[in-house]
Amino acid sequence: ATIHPLNVLAVEVAAEPGAHILPRSAGLPDQLFENDGQITKREIRALTLSALAPRPGEQLWDIGAGSGSVGIEWMLADRRMRAIAIEPNAGRGDRILQNTAAFGVPGLELVRGSAPEALAGLPRPDAIFIGGGVSRPGVIDTAIAALPSGGRLVINAVTLETEALLIARHGTHGGDLIRISLDRARPLAGMTGWEPARPVVQWSWVK
Ligand code: SAH
Repeated sequence: ATIHPLNVLAVEVAAEPGAHILPRSAGLPDQLFENDGQITKREIRALTLSALAPRPGEQLWDIGAGSGSVGIEWMLADRRMRAIAIEPNAGRGDRILQNTAAFGVPGLELVRGSAPEALAGLPRPDAIFIGGGVSRPGVIDTAIAALPSGGRLVINAVTLETEALLIARHGTHGGDLIRISLDRARPLAGMTGWEPARPVVQWSWVK
């Protein structure tokens, strides 16, 4: 079924029975995005969008876009949003285009390439999310250089190696460093137990 953002006219939604009507908050269910498992999970994505703090008409760079979920939720904040997804993996690039079509945000532009090289010449961002390629030399510095004063940078790390980079950046630049631990109730020996997800370390910084 076609997915309509909630800001689509009610009459259009009514015209298509079975259409999903999206809520306005970030943190949509993972299953709404075509993905191969490389996706920023719902709860982490909600916190990520909160830190990216979209304002009407702003431009996002979604570096290591994967399924495109972060850029898509950015686009859904307002009709005037702009976003560029940077993703080198061909299959994931194809999936990003499927997802932007399904969510009705064809304005999200896809750049098939790797950061930092693929960032050269892109339109100036107001906010940058890095969900992949963090450890490649030059990626964080290029992102910092590209942002205007007041621009937001948000980086998520799941490995110790990238976490170490974020700890170092937090030490030199300041900003907010958080560690997100999430447990979900799952069946356990006929009862229910907490199953922990891998913790995600998130550094967010305003230039
Ligand atoms: N935020 C995404 C998931 C990111 S997974 C989502 O919600 O769907 C990390 C992604 O970073 C992978 O798709 C990988 O192909 C990509 N990646 C790895 N190195 C990269 C680089 N140097 N530049 C851009 N993307 C990169």
